[in-house]
Amino acid sequence: MKAYVDENCIGCGACASICPEVFRMNDEGLAEAYVDPVPSEHEEGAQEAADSCPVDAIHLE
Ligand code: SF4
Repeated sequence: MKAYVDENCIGCGACASICPEVFRMNDEGLAEAYVDPVPSEHEEGAQEAADSCPVDAIHLE
């Protein structure tokens, strides 16, 4: 699984809170996925973060 955050991120911090193993906030206050690929043990967390994103900015493939 690969994860990426698109330009719609509003910097709410939910993804980094839910799944800090995959998402973090960058210097601009926006989220980024920092592991590639997502380790299998964190796929569920990454999915949960994507489902929780208020603007659907997280994409998993
Ligand atoms: S949950 Fe969505 S809007 Fe919030 S920081 Fe993460 S990617 Fe951005």
